[in-house]
Amino acid sequence: MRIFDPHIHMTSRTTDDYARMAAAGVRALVEPAFWLGQPRTSPGSFTDYFDSLIGWEPYRAAQFGIVHHATIALNPKEANDPRCRPVLDLLPRYLDKDRVVAVGEIGYDSITPEEDDVFERQLALAVEHDLPALVHTPHRDKATGTRRTLEVVAASGIAPERVAVDHLNEVTVGIVRDSGCWMGFSIYPETKMSPPRMVEILKRYGPERMLVNSAADWGVSDPLLTLETGTAMLAAGFTEDDVDRVLWRNPVEFYSQSGRLDLTGAGAGADQPTFAGSSIKRGGG
Ligand SMILES: [Zn+2]
Repeated sequence: MRIFDPHIHMTSRTTDDYARMAAAGVRALVEPAFWLGQPRTSPGSFTDYFDSLIGWEPYRAAQFGIVHHATIALNPKEANDPRCRPVLDLLPRYLDKDRVVAVGEIGYDSITPEEDDVFERQLALAVEHDLPALVHTPHRDKATGTRRTLEVVAASGIAPERVAVDHLNEVTVGIVRDSGCWMGFSIYPETKMSPPRMVEILKRYGPERMLVNSAADWGVSDPLLTLETGTAMLAAGFTEDDVDRVLWRNPVEFYSQSGRLDLTGAGAGADQPTFAGSSIKRGGG
């Protein structure tokens, strides 16, 4: 099984995770910019973080034969902090970088007027830079937040097939499907979506425009839940080709719209992940 995790925050994960992911078949991933865990106090905090997402983290991933791309944005939670807003002026410089394949995560967290403004401005940046957008939906008031999200996306003028609306569940999948946007599902160990629930959604709606991710971050999460979802799909009677479509070809198709997805080195060196001194291997061949 080859796996592309379209939404995972490797900055907050260890090399053990990279090794386990490589062994499980993860060959590529996209790391969306998100919050720090504690409040950022200045825009400079974003500069270092964004540089790490397009420099250090791809290098770390390559040791394990995993190709790393990023999405860049001011995330919805930090959109509410006036100390973070000036980062909007720094985004255009990052949105031109080779390894940046979308604007994201953008969208709503608490659905405030500040989030409205920042969401609209960043959708405009996606249009301007000819990039797809990765849109987070709120964990509270999900139905309301998702409807509002789709209205703002429609008003922005971005093509729906260039937008992935993420963190969906049984309640929100239908309206996103009808909008023409891609549907993202984050599979969690304890709460929210689980592999069996994801399989039921795939049975009902089919594999088209479906993205499955682990969204692993600082919290309790598991980077191998993509694999577990693929295994659950096979057990439920889906074919290997269905699994490959959902876990590999769909994310490739979505992020390829950036014109920047480069999968050279995906799976290279997965047998011998090393991360020490002179034995470091780049996954470039
Ligand atoms: Zn995320």
